[in-house]
Amino acid sequence: MASSIARFTRRDFGRAVGTGLSLSLGSRALSSPRQSADEGRRIGYAIVGLGRISLGHFMPACKMSKYSKVIALVSGHRDKAEKTAAEYGVSTGNIFNYQNYEEIAGHKDIDAVYIALPNSMHAEYTIRAAKAGKHVLCEKPMCTSVREAESMIEACKTADKKLMIAYRCQYEPTNLHAVQLIGDGKLGKIQVIESANGFNIHPHEWRLDKKLAGGGPLMDVGIYSLNACRYLTGEEPVHVEGYSSVVDHDGRFEQVEENLSWTMTFPSGAVAACTTTYGANTGGWCRVHGSKGSLTLDPAFAYQGIHLTTDIRGEPPVDDPEQAKDPAQFATEADEFAQDILQNRSVKASGEEGLRDMKWMDAIYKSAGITTA
Ligand code: NAD
Repeated sequence: MASSIARFTRRDFGRAVGTGLSLSLGSRALSSPRQSADEGRRIGYAIVGLGRISLGHFMPACKMSKYSKVIALVSGHRDKAEKTAAEYGVSTGNIFNYQNYEEIAGHKDIDAVYIALPNSMHAEYTIRAAKAGKHVLCEKPMCTSVREAESMIEACKTADKKLMIAYRCQYEPTNLHAVQLIGDGKLGKIQVIESANGFNIHPHEWRLDKKLAGGGPLMDVGIYSLNACRYLTGEEPVHVEGYSSVVDHDGRFEQVEENLSWTMTFPSGAVAACTTTYGANTGGWCRVHGSKGSLTLDPAFAYQGIHLTTDIRGEPPVDDPEQAKDPAQFATEADEFAQDILQNRSVKASGEEGLRDMKWMDAIYKSAGITTA
């Protein structure tokens, strides 16, 4: 894959990428608050795709959640679905496949779908769910192109259904503590951010098939660093520049990048340097350096054990390890969306938020000389 550099300026992207990422810790807008009839009700999720993230994290999380329950399954494998249905008390009448998915429309007990399919299927299954009258919680990355992201937002708007992208770190208390410290000016002026997220991928993963994945590690795990730089600073980049390479010519990287590093500059003047890879286990971490001191989230994006530490002149050090264990982050995510639905609140990790990352990833790929959808 070619390594090339191109320049993307404020003029190129300022218009394309909206501003306004909101990560305030305060309450969100109620469009028209529902009455107490919904109080105590649990939102029924149809799980679309019974893979690792669904079976290993999101569905167990629903068991420990307050406002969410698994009410239906959508799978191409009837045997697996029946076994899973028995475990979760889902009636066999609430098992669907990818062909009869639209029949969820007739099931009033299904409020929302949770989409955990390969990335290239996110747009189709979001749009079909919205047309069937269901709210959508869609896994990251939102989809594989800016155009798809826009059509997902449009479909949910037209159907008057909510759309959330599963950015669990945006709801995770340790990450929010870091947002708070930066917002309160504890680090002084933010100067430099460093972040990495990568792992050494096994061959034969759908993640290496560009048709299914849309891209390589940037779309899969680099997106955490990109999103974190945006929510930690509360700023939208004005300039991005990317560099990619393939080191291992072992058949894994014929379609997607192996390594990608990119830089971003922000309106305040802060700069970020991020790295993602499918060729090495970098862990997922983030360091923010300000004029008065720094903070480190290491790990920053893990399912559990996220750890915040600080080194700030004149301040006692913060040592804040995440208290909850996996799958608590997924329970919070499911319950936040459930409450958005129950209380008719605006969604923090909205479709528009997912679209911003799609636009920046597209810009980074273009800068690195990688063709996008
Ligand atoms: P997975 O491969 O374990 O599961 C994918 C599911 O999609 C399987 O049930 C599979 O049967 C089904 N599927 C349907 N059509 C398919 C096709 N043509 N090819 C392959 N699978 C097909 O994947 P996963 O790790 O669970 O990832 C699913 C989604 O969740 C991805 O978008 C990924 O980025 C996201 N994810 C999010 C997190 C997070 O922390 N939020 C973590 C891991 C994955």
